[in-house]
Order: sequence, then C-alpha cells, then structure tokens
Amino acid sequence: MHIVHAAAEMAPIAKIGGLGDVILGLSRAFIKMGHRVDIIIPKYNCLDLSLCQNLKLIKNDLKSFENDKWYTNSVWTGVVEGCTVFFLEPHHPDKYFHEGKIYAGATDIPRFIYFSRLLLEFLYHNKEPIDILNLHDWHVSLAAPLYKDIYKPQGLQIGALTLNIHNLEYQGKCATPDLDKIGLQGEKYHTLDKLKDENPSDPETINLLKGGIVYADKIIAVSPNYSREILTVEMAFNLENTLRQHEHKITGILNGIDLEIWSPKKDPFVPAPYSNRNTIQEILQAKSKNKKTLQKRMGLAEEEKPFIICISRLVSQKGPYLIKEGLLHAVKKGAQSGLLGFSPLPKMQQEFENLSEKMKNDPNIFFQFKYDESLSRLMYAAADFLIVPSFFEPCGLTQLIGLRYGAIPIVRRTGGLADTVFDNDDPLIPLEKRNGYTFDTFDFMGINDAINRALECWKNDQDEYQKMLLRGMNMDFGWEKSAKDYLNIYKQLIKF
Ligand code: ADP
Repeated sequence: MHIVHAAAEMAPIAKIGGLGDVILGLSRAFIKMGHRVDIIIPKYNCLDLSLCQNLKLIKNDLKSFENDKWYTNSVWTGVVEGCTVFFLEPHHPDKYFHEGKIYAGATDIPRFIYFSRLLLEFLYHNKEPIDILNLHDWHVSLAAPLYKDIYKPQGLQIGALTLNIHNLEYQGKCATPDLDKIGLQGEKYHTLDKLKDENPSDPETINLLKGGIVYADKIIAVSPNYSREILTVEMAFNLENTLRQHEHKITGILNGIDLEIWSPKKDPFVPAPYSNRNTIQEILQAKSKNKKTLQKRMGLAEEEKPFIICISRLVSQKGPYLIKEGLLHAVKKGAQSGLLGFSPLPKMQQEFENLSEKMKNDPNIFFQFKYDESLSRLMYAAADFLIVPSFFEPCGLTQLIGLRYGAIPIVRRTGGLADTVFDNDDPLIPLEKRNGYTFDTFDFMGINDAINRALECWKNDQDEYQKMLLRGMNMDFGWEKSAKDYLNIYKQLIKF
C-alpha cells in the first residue's frame, strides 16, 4: 500500500510532543510490514536537518494559491530514521514556517491553511496513485474538504482519507474569508453540516478540525477509551453533535511507542543500559547508576531515595497544579523529584519559575523548563516513578515510555491512561496487568494518595515493587499490533 501521512510534527526533527513520535513510530511500523510510506511536513526553518539523510531539493517551482495570487514553493526530500519525508517550503511574503518554531501562535491559522492547499498541489502534480492519505489533527484537516470538493473532481486519485484525532482541544478556528483566500468559498462551508463552528461563545465561526471530521472516510482516535470519551459533552470541546453524527466513522486505536527508538538498552543517552532480558538485580543496579548520573547532572543529593519525575507540557490538560503538588508532596515524603517541561502560557510558566526559585537550594527537587530530548531519556532511565495527572489524555506516551524504562506510572484514570495503566492495589484487576497506580478524582488528595501508596510499596515491600516493575517492562506497547489495526481499517476502506 502507498500510505501518505501529513502532519505538523515528526520526531526527531520536528517534535513538540506525542504527535511527532506517532508519525515516526507508525510510519516505521508500516515500512517494516512492507508498505510504502511518505511523510509530508512543512519545511520549518528550525528543523534539525543533521538528522536527515540525502536531503535533496526536488522541485522549486511548485505553485500554490492564496488571495488571488500564485506563490512559488520548493519541495525537498530526505530520509529520517528510515522514513521518506517530503518537506514543503513556501516562498511566501508572510514567511510561513520561517518563524524559528514549529507552532507560531496567531499565524498558525494562515500558515496551516496555506500548507493544506500546498499539500494537495504537491500530490496533484506528483501524479502518483495513493491508497491512503492519513491526516493528523486540525493543522491539515482542511485537506479533506479541499480534496473532495476541488482536487478529486480534477482527477487526483486517493483511495481513502483518514483523520487522526490526537487532541480534540485544538480545533483551528477561523473566519469564512480565511477559506476564501485559498479558493474555497467560505460561505458555502459555513453551515452546520460542514465547517460551521458549534461553540456559541466563540467569535470565530469556521472550525478546521470539523472539516476533517465531516469529510474524512474514517476517524481514528488515539486510544479506545478516548474514542468513547470524545462523544461526551465533557470531553468533546463543543464538537459532540458533529462527532455523534459521524460516530459510525469513529474508531479508537491505541498509540504505540517505537521499541527500537525507546529502548533503555540502545538509548544513547542512557549511561547504564538495561532491558527486560536482564535480571531484576541487574536492572536495579543499572537504574541506580543512571539515578546517580541524573543527581550529579541536576545538582541533587546523591542518596538512594525513590525518584519521581514528570515530563510534560505545562498546560491545563496535563493538570499543572497536580504536577506541582505531586512533586512537592513526594519530596515531603522523603523522595526526590524532577520536572522537565515548560508552558506556552506565560502566567503558568512564571508560576513554575517562582516555585523553582523558591526551591533552588533544596537538594531533592529540580525543574528544567526547556525541551531536552537527552535529559528526558536519562530521566526515564533513572526514575522509579513517573506522574501523569492529566485532566484528559487522548493517549499519552510518557506512561508507555516510563513502563518500558522501568519508571512506574502514577496516572489519573482518563483517556489512554486508563487503557494502559492498571492499579497495583486493585484486587479486581488481574495480577498480570497491574503495572502502576491510578486515581480518579482530579484533586490534590487523588494524586497524593496514589503517590503515598507508590512510595509505601517502594519503601516497605521491595519484592512487590520489583514484580510490578518487571510486569510493566515486559508489557508490549510497541506499534506492531496497532499498525495491523490501522492496516485493517485502510484495507476495508479501499477494499484492498
Ligand atoms: P503530548 O500531549 O504533549 O503529546 P504525550 O505524552 O503524548 O503528550 O507525548 C509527549 C512526548 O513529548 C514524549 O515523547 C515526551 O518524552 C516528550 N516531551 C514532553 N516534554 C518534553 C520536554 N520538555 N523535553 C523533552 N521531551 C519532552
């Protein structure tokens, strides 16, 4: 099959969060199964191109349309972690994708609307038959109505269109003239059965993600639980009516992690490597060495204490106040803790910086407010526990990486977290599934109680702790099974 993924992110060259990991991991799984995969992303000027092999300019006269003018674009191609990637580079007076960042805030709407049309121009002129165009999130959702209403009638052949919902909170809201600009008649799409937004309090009235939901042949939510949650008023961010209307197209497939890329045995940033093939003693020794490296690097007391980490964007979805509370509570209870993450919201970022300043002489806690792949990997390999107290979580990857690296997850039971983490103290859960700690109430008591139980086990029942750790490390959250589920859906759609 010829599968094309279009997205805003791709790990490791253009990664902000889980979306980037999924584009890479899923594509690599399809390639291993013998399929042809192309990934299409914008050519951001902040791409780390040292990670791309054979980078070539293959076209510099691809035209795309905005505001009655045709603009020139370049197309580059290269290989990243074994995947063929096409980078589309607009030469547009507004310098789209030349802002030095993947997401640019207010200008994201015009840049990704432009990119959605450019993407189809590229596929149209490329003239290669495509079985599946898999769109991801709001950034490229407009490609669905563009294809069905403009490019398909002109002869572009795509077997089927699928849309992945990685996070329903981000929908891409704009106004009808924004669609006019790239040649879609905005007013024609401003109806409830098309792209009209359904939030009465929002001044913007076009919803780009809704375009993907309405026009795609299939909608894939990134975990089974999330595929059910998005049909509820609480979790649908005002799209519940649309999603219910299109419920017959919705399915949930759990994200995986690439077991080659997330391997504590092969990870170049893990000083003492280990894997589930080692004995528990060898694993604990390696993790203890990694903990010492982390303690040194972050200037913490070099003591053998339980270590609790959090690696997360600091946005309300992730429960930033519960993250703060949990890390401080762990220290009060005699553990060490560390946070890697930052907030796009200046007020939230300031609050965390104030806390970090207040705690700067405490040898048992650290804060790092940046994106740091190498530090994240050392943290997973050093930690005993990892917290994910999300309010909602479409799938969540940090708990899966934590399990693989022997950092036991402590999570709020929502979305994909509820599909992957099972409480060690719950007698109703089969023993072989119990791999962490979960809580339900989104409050300090919820997270603190779960942390207390985790620390209690670490301190007073090492035997139990070690068994749980091994159960988690032995669970298979690789892409193989999920990639097969994707392929079954693709095959049904195109009757392959
Ligand atoms: P998100 O909602 O942000 O996509 P996920 O749990 O699905 O959350 O994925 C997060 C991914 O981003 C993981 O690979 C995690 O290790 C990584 N990550 C998050 N914040 C940072 C950071 N500050 N530095 C390095 N990696 C990070």
